[in-house]
Amino acid sequence: MHVLVVEDERKIAAYVKRGLEEEGYAVDVAFTGREALDLTDRVNFDLIILDIKLPEMDGFAVCRELRKRDYRAPLLMLTALDAIDDRVTGLDAGADDYLTKPFALRELLARMRALTRRATDSPKSLELQLADLTLDTLTRRVKRGGKVIKLTAKEYAILECLLHEAGRVLTRTQIAEHVWNYDIYSHSNIVDVYIRNLRRKLDDSFEPKLIHTVRGAGYRLSIESEDETA
Ligand code: CA
Repeated sequence: MHVLVVEDERKIAAYVKRGLEEEGYAVDVAFTGREALDLTDRVNFDLIILDIKLPEMDGFAVCRELRKRDYRAPLLMLTALDAIDDRVTGLDAGADDYLTKPFALRELLARMRALTRRATDSPKSLELQLADLTLDTLTRRVKRGGKVIKLTAKEYAILECLLHEAGRVLTRTQIAEHVWNYDIYSHSNIVDVYIRNLRRKLDDSFEPKLIHTVRGAGYRLSIESEDETA
């Protein structure tokens, strides 16, 4: 899950970024509306947290512009306490939900989970499954063959991304942009390193193998192994 935080107050931006990263989210921060629009041109974010009060271009304008460009990511607006007009204007501008400042990180995380659940095709399925591999998106517990597999936050994020698209080939960039912020993934083989770890934990002592390398393309999670392995 790759999140964009648009907030000019650096302390709040840093607090949110750190809190989300601890939960395994990849986070980029934009301090102005222009920066936000620039970044969304390059990155397909899964969710955007957007403050209303920004210099030059406010959050409403950013929101309208994103919707005009048909940018689909769920949008959570940050509004001042008691600013009912702001909430209405925000929802009218295309925001999906709002959160009033100040907020607790736990509430932000809960709103984000609700928004991303709503955005997926099967809103009620909290458990992703392939063969004897299961991933519970609520408890973040992963099991294979009934055995609990301990994963790091990044390994979990990659697996969740692959499982959501099980059967489809995902490129390294597609995987990385859900897991790392833009600075990191644009220049490294970091995905391969993490896939190796995932294989060791999820595939080495189990059959059938589920993580497949599709040469020249990327990776695929599936039960069938008709692909070329590298
Ligand atoms: Ca602000």
